[in-house]
Amino acid sequence: MRRLLMISAVLLGLSSAAGADSIYEFPEDEDEANFIANEVIATFYHELGHAFIDVLALPVLGKEEDAADTLSVILMNDIWQEDAAAEILTSDATSYALLASQPGRFDDEQIFADEHSLDIQRYYNVVCLFYGANPEARAQLAQDLELPADRAERCPDEYALASESWYAMLDGTEPGPGNHGLEMAPGQEGVPLADLLADEVASLNESFGLPEVITVVVADCGEPNAFYDPEQRSITMCNEYAENLQDMWEAE
Ligand SMILES: [Zn+2]
Repeated sequence: MRRLLMISAVLLGLSSAAGADSIYEFPEDEDEANFIANEVIATFYHELGHAFIDVLALPVLGKEEDAADTLSVILMNDIWQEDAAAEILTSDATSYALLASQPGRFDDEQIFADEHSLDIQRYYNVVCLFYGANPEARAQLAQDLELPADRAERCPDEYALASESWYAMLDGTEPGPGNHGLEMAPGQEGVPLADLLADEVASLNESFGLPEVITVVVADCGEPNAFYDPEQRSITMCNEYAENLQDMWEAE
């Protein structure tokens, strides 16, 4: 299943759902709105990596955050058609570049103690993996995103190993009897971020089935974040996360 990017249809959806949480509205500028929507998708795939690791009790050799980034690139590559996949990857890389360029980002020693790799490392890793998945089609993209030639040389092998490793772990997750899917939390129809994720949920449910239901929620969190909660078995996309992407884009 390879999907075309049709985000604009989602963005035009009217927001009508009521609730205590605020409703994030995408900006009118098309490039900006696409950046935000693409990065929400990339981040959702990352959180799905944490969810898979939890509900399938997967072994993780190395940093879980890196494994989740890797799954995100694999899903971009495998779910979307070339142009759309490249746009999502570019937005993902751009978000890391914007994070890294925020004033004072590295002033606090805490950033080095964080469980995530540094923004710039994440940038090069996702670009490398995506390039490595299809080097013939993506040489120009790799050049545009300034992937160094030394690293690029090894990226096809890196991607092959990453993809084989993840799919070996996802063996048995075909949709079917006894397996559950992802589910949107109820009452979120018409909320633009939720509608965007609902499309992802529908698409992912065609490829994956899980021993537990994973619920997907859009909510106010009090901080720009997206996270998987193993207690609730839920993925939360915070409204503040989208707002922060918008702020970073507009600050450039
Ligand atoms: Zn994570």
